[in-house]
Amino acid sequence: MSLREKIRIGDDRMHLRLTDEQEMVRKTIRKFVEKELIPLENDVLRNEREGKPSLPEGKMEELQQKAKEAGFWGINTPEEYGGADLGQMMLAIVQMEVARTFVPFKFGGSADNILYYGNEEQKEKYLLPTINGEKKSCFAMTEPGAGSDTRNLRMTAVKDGNEWVLNGEKTFITGGNEADFVMAIAITDKELHKSSNGRKGVTCFIVDRDMGWGSEYIHTMGEWGPAALIFENVRVPEENILGEIDHGYDLGLEWIGFARWIVGARAVGAAERLLNMAIDYANERETFGKPIATRQAIQWQIADSAVEIEAAKWLVLNAAFTLDQGEDNRHYASMAKLYGANMGNNVIDRVLQIHGGMGYTRELPIERWYREARLWRIYDGTDEIQRLIISRNLLKGHVKIG
Ligand SMILES: Cc1cc2nc3c(=O)[nH]c(=O)nc-3n(C[C@H](O)[C@H](O)[C@H](O)COP(=O)(O)OP(=O)(O)OC[C@H]3O[C@@H](n4cnc5c(N)ncnc54)[C@H](O)[C@@H]3O)c2cc1C
Repeated sequence: MSLREKIRIGDDRMHLRLTDEQEMVRKTIRKFVEKELIPLENDVLRNEREGKPSLPEGKMEELQQKAKEAGFWGINTPEEYGGADLGQMMLAIVQMEVARTFVPFKFGGSADNILYYGNEEQKEKYLLPTINGEKKSCFAMTEPGAGSDTRNLRMTAVKDGNEWVLNGEKTFITGGNEADFVMAIAITDKELHKSSNGRKGVTCFIVDRDMGWGSEYIHTMGEWGPAALIFENVRVPEENILGEIDHGYDLGLEWIGFARWIVGARAVGAAERLLNMAIDYANERETFGKPIATRQAIQWQIADSAVEIEAAKWLVLNAAFTLDQGEDNRHYASMAKLYGANMGNNVIDRVLQIHGGMGYTRELPIERWYREARLWRIYDGTDEIQRLIISRNLLKGHVKIG
């Protein structure tokens, strides 16, 4: 097989092109975004500014159904659960394309990665309904005193007969206001938790909302807010332990790790769309008798943005490709997240600057994206935590340069 053929097929570490199939998926999703989602942007902006939900009730389901008819449902879900199981590269491509709009759409047919660790009853009761969109989930690790420092958890679960009694508070939980059940991490063995430096002695519980936990909306600078979850003597049956008792920390890291490089993918999609807006505007907007596109100050902002987007894209695709090979991608996921999130923020800032005063208004969606993008550097592990992970891997010799 010639090198060129290898490169086209994408079975080699050095592949530099999308395969025909990947390219076809990318184009199909782009069409879907352009035809179904981008036309909704004005409505979304108006709804949000009036304090209403971004999409009216039932719209998400209608869009998901249309996507399903086009073959996009359960993109990353195993075939045995009715999904398309397209793999991580495809997921990366899909995420980049969908992030070209701020319309908060997500394809149907997926569930949290850690729900697959459930036993058959748990899969029946929680995994399948989540995949089918009948139940909404959320995942709760973070507490007021334990964000980056996930080993500093305080929430406890104490056994009482066949039940566990949960007490404590979780915070910043995405979907926590809407969820039917939460996968919550709580300390089940204080001694083990202490002696293992927080790595053991915690367990993941699946807790239905009607078991008694409450949620409170947290207002953020973005258009949607996470929730604080309150557990006061919430009784959870033994059969609702997810995975192994005292080994919930690993599940937590797996949940967080899954979304990490996807933050980078979403930043790429948004930055591409926004940079195109800046290019159009720079060509149209005239000052001192010439389009601002003729000024080097503007040209360099466009050039720097394009280079950074391209670099972030390859980091994201590398993180996805590594995972598709069945290899540990955590180092590359941290790189894709760190660089992608910062690239996104830099590009949006430049795009806003190129639009001048208009960029700062609510006439255009740039300020909305600007506020949303700030989150990318915080959740799923802050910039500083990604740097800590990357440098630790290198300093301890887990990963070698080159
Ligand atoms: C909108 C939103 C949604 C979220 N969704 C979820 C969710 O669904 N589930 C969930 O469990 N969590 C969720 N989180 C929590 C999120 O993961 C944490 O906010 C994040 O990990 C940071 O923790 P923290 O806010 O406690 O900041 P802290 O950990 O207190 O950090 C404060 C600052 O100190 C820095 N810092 C901390 N430790 C170090 C160190 N060792 N070296 C250098 N700098 C350091 C941080 O980088 C940061 O700049 C969400 C957060 C937000 C804002």
